Amino acid sequence: MRSLVTGGAGFLGSHLCERLLAEGHEVICLDNFFTGRKAHVAPFLSHPRFELVRHDVIDPIKLEVDRVYNLACPASPVHYQHNPIKTIKTSILGAVNALGLAKRVKARAFLASTSEVYGDPEVHPQPESYWGHVNPIGIRSCYDEGKRCAETLYFDYHREHGLPIRVARIFNTYGPRMLPDDGRVVTNFIVQALKGEDLTVYGEGQQTRSFCYVDDLIDGFVRLMEQEETVGPVNLGNPSEFTILELAEKVIAMTKSSSKIIHLPLPADDPQQRRPDISLAKKVLDWEPKVPLEEGLERTVTFFREMLS
Ligand code: NAD
Ligand code: UDP
Repeated sequence: MRSLVTGGAGFLGSHLCERLLAEGHEVICLDNFFTGRKAHVAPFLSHPRFELVRHDVIDPIKLEVDRVYNLACPASPVHYQHNPIKTIKTSILGAVNALGLAKRVKARAFLASTSEVYGDPEVHPQPESYWGHVNPIGIRSCYDEGKRCAETLYFDYHREHGLPIRVARIFNTYGPRMLPDDGRVVTNFIVQALKGEDLTVYGEGQQTRSFCYVDDLIDGFVRLMEQEETVGPVNLGNPSEFTILELAEKVIAMTKSSSKIIHLPLPADDPQQRRPDISLAKKVLDWEPKVPLEEGLERTVTFFREMLS
């Protein structure tokens, strides 16, 4: 089995490469290193079944593979808003190119979609049947609408060409190998707490998120790719929901930090609540997250302590 992982040098991509290598796959990791790092995959470079390719997914590429995991796209709001036109091109042209490649070699095509397709949701928790509440012209739209269009492309290739697809809607996931300046909430709070800086809670901190540890998520990816019952979309995430203020307090307590909490303005269109309904994943993948937030945070704090020391 030969697998292509686009965005393979990123946070989730590098964990997926590691898992696929452990399962005996040949792995081609493709990345333009925008938010990915060679260091994330450096331990695999000497592996006989691993190849690293510098390539931008907005350009087509021909490779002989059996599985195409399409993860290439910055995921942190700070990064995807840095160059929004590039972000939407990455989602849409990256999907067209991943699908064209998969069709040519009859590979199975997996899309790393997102809970952002639900926008600022009016249905809670969010099941896959919910069509979402997304601003099409706001600062998050380059990401949200890019992923929504990518999903459309995957389903049209499936309907029109019979291409085998698998679409995962990923909810907030965290863990080792996130970048210290990633900008997402878990890393911001951990790095701030370890450095003794103020923790920056946006708004009142009453907005909620549900945080999944990376190992649980990657297990869901592989199960979704290899089962035959559904093409998706399937929600993958941890249904335990916390306010952002609760997360800040947990991180301060866990790191025994002297940091204080400060409040900064809430960014535009910031979703007020988010929690996955994972009934479908439980049923068809026999999957649910195993790592509770405290345990996942401990492992992530250990990673950043070592990095910052
Ligand atoms: P990340 O930013 O760490 O990884 C993205 C990777 O894609 C990086 O290695 C980056 O260099 C690469 N990339 C970006 N643009 C590219 C391009 N044009 N060509 C080639 N490579 C490119 O983010 P992540 O958290 O690992 O997210 C991976 C995927 O999962 C993304 O598609 C993201 O939308 C999706 N996702 C992640 C989360 C999460 O909580 N981590 C939630 C929902 C969806
Ligand atoms: N957030 C925060 N402080 C930070 C970073 C993020 O309060 O330093 C908030 C942000 O406003 C949002 C939540 O944490 O409500 C999750 O933000 P993140 O960027 O991690 O992901 P997303 O909004 O895409 O779920």
